Amino acid sequence: MLSEKLFANFKEETGSEALFDQVGYMFLLRSDEEVASFRENVEMQRSLGLKVDVLKPDEIPQYAPHVSLEGVQMATFCRDDGLGDPHEFLSGYDRAARNMGVQIELEAEVTGITVEDGKVSKVKTAKGDIATPLVVNCAGPYARLIGKMVAADVKVEPIKRQIVTTGELDWVRPFFPMVVDVRSGLYCHKESKGMLLGWADKSVQPSFDISVDPDYTDAILEKALDLMPQMEEAEMANEWAGLYETTPDHRAIIGWEPSVSGMFHVTGFSGHGFMHAPAAGMVTAEVLTDKKPSVDTSSYSPERFEKGVLAEETNVI
Ligand SMILES: Cc1cc2nc3c(=O)[nH]c(=O)nc-3n(C[C@H](O)[C@H](O)[C@H](O)COP(=O)(O)OP(=O)(O)OC[C@H]3O[C@@H](n4cnc5c(N)ncnc54)[C@H](O)[C@@H]3O)c2cc1C
Repeated sequence: MLSEKLFANFKEETGSEALFDQVGYMFLLRSDEEVASFRENVEMQRSLGLKVDVLKPDEIPQYAPHVSLEGVQMATFCRDDGLGDPHEFLSGYDRAARNMGVQIELEAEVTGITVEDGKVSKVKTAKGDIATPLVVNCAGPYARLIGKMVAADVKVEPIKRQIVTTGELDWVRPFFPMVVDVRSGLYCHKESKGMLLGWADKSVQPSFDISVDPDYTDAILEKALDLMPQMEEAEMANEWAGLYETTPDHRAIIGWEPSVSGMFHVTGFSGHGFMHAPAAGMVTAEVLTDKKPSVDTSSYSPERFEKGVLAEETNVI
């Protein structure tokens, strides 16, 4: 909810334009268990001020026409959710930071970190060394490798996830929401004049491999056809693979590394970090400048895994 406010006020904050299209997120629910679990979520979300609706099956097509309603008992729909353009947001933050005097070095791979008397003192990069008492580990799927440089165990695993986009489809309307078929795990939303389709293959093992696997693509297309039979008309425009940065409880790690002084982690967003990015950046800046964070970060602490205090985030797609 904090990120949503920051996305919506992006132009005022940074002076840059970035697409934030609040078409809503819709979760399709087909079993009694799914319905019961999402009803609980809705109650909690509403208690926190989120405007989320519960839709009967006959209310779904007005938002998401052509989606198969076979077996669908209910959907949840939060109209304030939306689609953002990661490149535009990243470029806007980059420009705003540089205008404020931040020096950003590209192509400067971090290859080592020096620790002296239990404190971070230097970062070694492909462009030379940087003396510093503070390192922020925000290396996404590579966060564990950065942790290893100071002998810290950062519990982030890289896991391949694939995406398919289609060519133009005349039945995809401008208001078509992000639809998540909870039973199959398929998600889809409009992308350019077609659709973007994705699915989390839970059998994929951790690795840095980002080659496109044709069987993975076929599985996505099959699920998409089940959900939207009209997909038969679609032509594939593109396909790609990237890495989720997955933690054991699918929640981010935000906090100081307990074993080394001067290292702060903000990583492990487990495949939903674009949504968290503005809020995570904001609370990180607040913590590092000794302000009270806008969000209580204690449950994101890196130490929670050792302590066994985990609150698993479910429904990660
Ligand atoms: C297929 C796919 C679909 C996704 N869909 C969504 C979605 O719909 N919504 C959503 O919210 N999220 C989505 N995500 C997840 C989202 O992309 C990530 O959670 C988010 O990018 C994490 O941001 P980050 O800044 O922590 O890490 P990243 O964006 O991965 O950035 C890490 C940076 O660290 C740099 N780096 C790594 N190692 C080093 C080093 N040694 N030296 C210097 N630099 C280094 C990398 O080059 C990179 O620039 C998706 C991810 C994938 C793969």
